[in-house]
Amino acid sequence: MVGPAIVTEKRVAATSPSKDELIAFIQSVILNEQQEEMGPFYVLDLGVVRSLLDTWTFNLPMVQPFYAVKCNPDPAFLKEMAALGTGFDCASRAEIQTILSLGVSPDRIVFANTCKPESHVKYAAKVGVNLTTFDSVCELEKIKKWHPKCALLMRIKVPETSGAAFLFGSKFGALPEEIVPLLQAAQAAELKVVGVSFHIGSRAINYHAFEEAILAAKTTFETAAQLGLPKMHILNIGGGFTSGPKFTEAASAVKVALKKYFPTGPTTGLKLMAEPGRFFANEPFTLATSILGKRIRNEIKEYWINDGMSGSMNYLKYDHDDVICTPLANFGNNDVITCKGLETSDSTVFGPTCDPADTVLEVYPLPDLQVNDWLVFHNMGAYTSSRGNDFNGFKTSAIPTYLANSDKIS
Ligand SMILES: *Cc1c(COP(=O)(O)O)cnc(C)c1O
Repeated sequence: MVGPAIVTEKRVAATSPSKDELIAFIQSVILNEQQEEMGPFYVLDLGVVRSLLDTWTFNLPMVQPFYAVKCNPDPAFLKEMAALGTGFDCASRAEIQTILSLGVSPDRIVFANTCKPESHVKYAAKVGVNLTTFDSVCELEKIKKWHPKCALLMRIKVPETSGAAFLFGSKFGALPEEIVPLLQAAQAAELKVVGVSFHIGSRAINYHAFEEAILAAKTTFETAAQLGLPKMHILNIGGGFTSGPKFTEAASAVKVALKKYFPTGPTTGLKLMAEPGRFFANEPFTLATSILGKRIRNEIKEYWINDGMSGSMNYLKYDHDDVICTPLANFGNNDVITCKGLETSDSTVFGPTCDPADTVLEVYPLPDLQVNDWLVFHNMGAYTSSRGNDFNGFKTSAIPTYLANSDKIS
């Protein structure tokens, strides 16, 4: 069973900081550090985290969010989410350990990896993480052996109509024709299949995909009932949400589909959960990078910055197509200023490594900048630092995070 996870208390929505406030905060960090050559750093605004949870609860009060840890496991961010009472989607022993170490009870964790190492299954049993996903007979055998009391969600592959940047169907989810044999295998092994999970794809754009997915889940609930399995009672609608104006659209698609296919909803004991990653992690993080080098070639200005594709920006090209980058001119001596109103020209921005693919921006309008000026990238929390590595000795793991509270930024 999934335990109670979500906040009941209604807080006043925190106001998101304006970009100007954040920039002012970043200026103060740069000035306070007074380092000759300062590396890249993140700012995490905890006020934004709180307001995102308010937005979620306002739009989808019936759906408990289990934050997908892989999206950004920054310790301060996870701590804030834990304090706010969300659940967590963990995919490995280490992720479970991290969440438990924050004092989160194991019933606020879903072990949402359909193919787990045996030792991780054993660990889940030991620490009392009692909800996981599966989509193969092999996984059922593993669970039967090491964690037979675990409640199971059958991950189903859903029609890939979300237009998402990243689809999961080639790797995850039972095909329609596999559903009956899998349910029968679980039944024969006396394992508890308590519900269904799916993922419409990360950074989805067409939310009618939720309707098709929720219909597929309803069909699976019915199939289980026909096979004589105990009534399913958990529906996990996965991730795929983005923050911003698209969220209300996604939430209403979910609500319409739930009304249509699960009309009795929670009144008959149905529990609704989701595994949003990007929705919570993207907006609260801002990345500040500084300029290491410059070249002018064919009248195009080319800049090198101190983070790039092997670090926080591995997905920037295709995952962050609305890159928002604020340049800051650094005159030293307490003088870091915005470049508002300056003339811009199409520029190229390279990352610091010797990989030619380490190109961050092309044909991007920037003013004339110099070494030690700054480029600040907004909405940089989702699948950024968590995917970075230490290639060429530029250490993503060493990028510090400064905390802001937008309630308190002034
Ligand atoms: C990655 C992942 C998520 C989070 O997806 P977002 O698109 O970031 O919301 C949720 N559930 C599972 C099983 C995942 O693998």
